[in-house]
Amino acid sequence: MNFLAVDTLAKALQEAGFQRLDAAKPMPRLEAGQQLFVTKNDSSLYAFRVGSKPLAEAGFHIICAHADSPTFRIKPQGEIRCEGGLVKLNTEVYGGPILSTWMDRPLSLAGRVILRGTDALHPTTRLLHVRRPLLVIPNLAIHFNRQVNDGVKLSKQKDMLPILGIVKEQLEGGMLINLIASELKVQESEILDFDLYLYDATPACRVGLDGEFISSGRLDDLSMVHAGLEALLAANKQPEVTQVLAIFDNEETGSQTKQGAGSPFLSSMLQRMVLAQGGTQDDWFRAIEQAFMVSADNAHAWHPNYSDKYDPTNHPQMGGGPVIKINAAQKYATDAQSAAVFAEVCREAGVPCQYFVNHSDVAGGSTLGNILASSLPLRGVDMGNPIWAMHSCRETGSVRDHALCIRAFTQFLN
Ligand code: ZN
Repeated sequence: MNFLAVDTLAKALQEAGFQRLDAAKPMPRLEAGQQLFVTKNDSSLYAFRVGSKPLAEAGFHIICAHADSPTFRIKPQGEIRCEGGLVKLNTEVYGGPILSTWMDRPLSLAGRVILRGTDALHPTTRLLHVRRPLLVIPNLAIHFNRQVNDGVKLSKQKDMLPILGIVKEQLEGGMLINLIASELKVQESEILDFDLYLYDATPACRVGLDGEFISSGRLDDLSMVHAGLEALLAANKQPEVTQVLAIFDNEETGSQTKQGAGSPFLSSMLQRMVLAQGGTQDDWFRAIEQAFMVSADNAHAWHPNYSDKYDPTNHPQMGGGPVIKINAAQKYATDAQSAAVFAEVCREAGVPCQYFVNHSDVAGGSTLGNILASSLPLRGVDMGNPIWAMHSCRETGSVRDHALCIRAFTQFLN
């Protein structure tokens, strides 16, 4: 659902000479060095740089990541009018945020708005990014809950609704529709629907004695999206092996959507590329056998206040480089062979790398790699940079790790 991130990616790719494909139109004939990208639902994006070797012989070098993050979605009929003219918004939780971290900080709204188009089946989409602090979810004062520091159970429906403002007069279409119309400079009657989400309105910043950390919303997984983009732009423009950057949506809700990693969309685009080279169905299967995927999603950095939560021998350090993620139950796609491949790529790039395995009594998370590999049987590794406070409104990562990751990805694509 990060429509703005996908739009930013598309603009950066177009500036670098990538040509936008329309999945509804025939695939053009492919030439070595050709740069293409395609989007799905305005919220996932797939970029390709065609290699000089036939796909059946060389396969693909794929980096994937996800653009969505835990947040709150505005429900339909979302305005709730309270005493004294206060208006709050009714929301639904998206993914698994740490709820308390969304309180007492300036928030705002972003997403897409659907406007009336030429006919019912073809409405128009406009992106909306309210660039000023607009909403706040205030905590309850400690005087009303003296036990607040002993732990609080938060209700998503009662405790987490953001306040939009004080309105004395009743606006005809409602305050939210009025706001959307004025932001987009359209008539209220043109607005059919919207996908709007809350975001942390405070810009990212560096923190630490030497600014060694970065504090930002949505490092998971926009930091890996950014590293993948930077690597694709820095990589060899005439590669032997076709380079692919796949940015999925809906990882935080299980990936089972047309724009998620569980969708056949990437697979069908790659297959269409093989056929567009004059390849056969058999060539497509051969290309998959040759391919390698780096599934990039952040890992948990060792936290000095909670060392008991980590594996005794595999707990990545902040600033220690990209992390290979391993799980015996195969929540990660990594196996010894794919871990060895990625570690070698890092070694060739002069980048240190680390390993993450769950403490055996802790369940841990899952990610894109095995979801993609279960429909597209690719060799691949799950990795990511170490961060603190995953799924907090504000996560912390390492500036050094980010640079190292871009270097490792560039080496892989080359
Ligand atoms: Zn993630």
